[in-house]
Amino acid sequence: NKQILLAKRPEGTPDKNTFKFVETDIRTPEKGEILIRTIYVSVDPYMRGRMVDAPSYIPPYQIDDVLGGGAIGEVVESKSDRFEHGDIVLGSFGWQSYYTAKEDEVRKIDKDIAPISTHLGILGLTGLTAYFGLLDIGEPKEGETVVISGAAGAVGSVVGQIAKIKGARVVGIAGTDEKNKYLKEELNFDEAINYKTSSNLQQDIAKACPNGVDVYFDNVGGEISDAVHVNINKYARITVCGAISSYNLEGKDVGPRIQTTLIKKSAKMQGFTLGDYTDRFGEGSEALAKWLNEGKLKYEETIKEGFDHIPDAFLDLFEGNNIGKLLVKVDK
Ligand code: NDP
Repeated sequence: NKQILLAKRPEGTPDKNTFKFVETDIRTPEKGEILIRTIYVSVDPYMRGRMVDAPSYIPPYQIDDVLGGGAIGEVVESKSDRFEHGDIVLGSFGWQSYYTAKEDEVRKIDKDIAPISTHLGILGLTGLTAYFGLLDIGEPKEGETVVISGAAGAVGSVVGQIAKIKGARVVGIAGTDEKNKYLKEELNFDEAINYKTSSNLQQDIAKACPNGVDVYFDNVGGEISDAVHVNINKYARITVCGAISSYNLEGKDVGPRIQTTLIKKSAKMQGFTLGDYTDRFGEGSEALAKWLNEGKLKYEETIKEGFDHIPDAFLDLFEGNNIGKLLVKVDK
């Protein structure tokens, strides 16, 4: 059994010293347990936060912990009445090639509604984050302008499409022309801005949003958000979903720098974690699956292959080397 452990807490950007590869024995399942062979592993920005030894909404990893996170696998041995050989299950068993799980640690997923990998993306926590963050906090109305940072990523690309379903004008901000072409041509975003090549982001946002910004769905924080904030309208809503631009900072971040604007614009800014919505996951999953079936939602996945590439894939998130959800398909 191959596992990847947290070797050392990173200062700044994680590197190869952050991770440790080990081989362990596979534990034979006992009554009420199953043995899972991992198929897909999710790599997610929030895992960077868990590498820091600080209290948060989710406990930090300890040194030598397996890097836990969303994963999908096949049941290869079952001592549980609830699962049989060949079932596909979803859990948080993370970066390991096999895992012996208690039957209530994982959930069976339906292989027939969509490719199984979607349960780590658009039909999983990614889609739900987009759904609740946009609709509950952003509350976009028909004809309003919604701006999304990290727009071509897993969460951002779903947010934009839901905003279109709700009749909003949608403007994405992402880091490459290829991503922006995808946003406009494939996902029907109205405008897309490349923050890396823009010489004046604040002005480019103003140009792309002639009626100002009513909803800002923030995945990145930092200077990109500064440039959006100055363009917000009266009664704007700001969903603070993520701040990936600050996750690898070694020093303190600057800011917050928006209070005066919030006051002048009577605007609302609210953070959230998806955990706030667990009792409404059913509603969210149903809506996402329905839109997917109706062809109203599209999704893209960037899939790396090979167990040994999981840490590289994780680091790709911070380099922007993904369109849509980034996953690793573990060796057969
Ligand atoms: P993504 O698929 O969006 O991947 C990360 C993307 O962030 C990269 O592709 C890159 O795109 C962009 N990025 C990386 N570094 C920077 C930077 N310094 N400045 C600006 N953009 C950067 O990841 P997810 O969709 O999984 O997550 C998006 C955000 O949502 C994250 O901040 C995450 O922490 C947060 N999140 C919050 C949840 C919650 O419950 N509140 C739940 C899930 C996610 P580009 O090429 O455009 O730079």
